[in-house]
Amino acid sequence: MMNMERIIRVSSLNEAWTLNQERSNVILGGFMWMKMANRSVAAGIDLSLLGLDQIEVTPEEFRIGCMCTLRMLELHPEINRQFPGYFAKALGSLVGVQFRNGATVGGSVFGRYGFSDVLTSLLALDTRVELYQGGLVPLTVFVNQKLDNDILVRIIIRRDNRTAAYLSQRNTRTDFPVIAVAAACRNQTVYISVGARPMKAALVELTLSDDAAADPDSLAQQAVSQLSFGKDMRSSAEYRRHLAQVYIRRGLEQILGGTKA
Ligand SMILES: Cc1cc2nc3c(=O)[nH]c(=O)nc-3n(C[C@H](O)[C@H](O)[C@H](O)COP(=O)(O)OP(=O)(O)OC[C@H]3O[C@@H](n4cnc5c(N)ncnc54)[C@H](O)[C@@H]3O)c2cc1C
Repeated sequence: MMNMERIIRVSSLNEAWTLNQERSNVILGGFMWMKMANRSVAAGIDLSLLGLDQIEVTPEEFRIGCMCTLRMLELHPEINRQFPGYFAKALGSLVGVQFRNGATVGGSVFGRYGFSDVLTSLLALDTRVELYQGGLVPLTVFVNQKLDNDILVRIIIRRDNRTAAYLSQRNTRTDFPVIAVAAACRNQTVYISVGARPMKAALVELTLSDDAAADPDSLAQQAVSQLSFGKDMRSSAEYRRHLAQVYIRRGLEQILGGTKA
């Protein structure tokens, strides 16, 4: 069980960051994951007064505050126009609507969880994270950085007209994924992100050749050959590799065939 002595509702990011340098304090997202831990905490740092529960839309990007819920990401009309059905596919198996109304984008991305559908889906898009101290960092870099005491302020997705598809497989409907695959394409580049291997999502970029029609099967083989897979209670490494290749091919068939998400 988690014990928390008090919650401090901060009035600035600087106050939050300063409090977060104490090892016994924690930043609170939606508290959905953290509450499962067996730990004592002196102070939970609550960011909810900082206006970070907003999604700003500009012609170039979506700027998603860390306190936005996963459900907001799933339902946002402009995001859905840009990437039709993509986040609904990526997040729809995540426990249930009530849960996704609580879990935050910040808590989901900052933790860089090996099972994360959130990370897998964002990695195939042109995504940066804005850290209070660390500034703007591409998600491809952030995903491999060590956990520290910084604060994730928002994530920023560039609206670069890539088409994207998301697929995952679960042993039961709302379990963690056995494999999670996101495939996106822009101009002659395909971006393939594979998560739940069972390790943090990783991105493979492949260039489509001009002459031959893109062959999803051989692209899937190439992508899988660049990734490592492991075993856990949900699956063997071999089964994951097999599933990844099948789902990458299917994702590429969707996007290279012109079907959005
Ligand atoms: C039962 C269960 C099933 C799940 N299944 C899935 C699944 O299938 N797929 C999937 O992708 N995810 C799954 N998740 C994870 C979930 O989607 C969220 O990622 C998770 O709940 C974290 O979000 P939160 O808002 O609850 O964060 P919290 O629990 O509040 O925080 C998580 C961690 O992030 C830190 N943190 C929070 N916000 C910030 C910030 N802005 N800056 C810096 N640090 C911050 C906290 O201090 C804490 O260490 C599951 C979680 C649970 C509990």
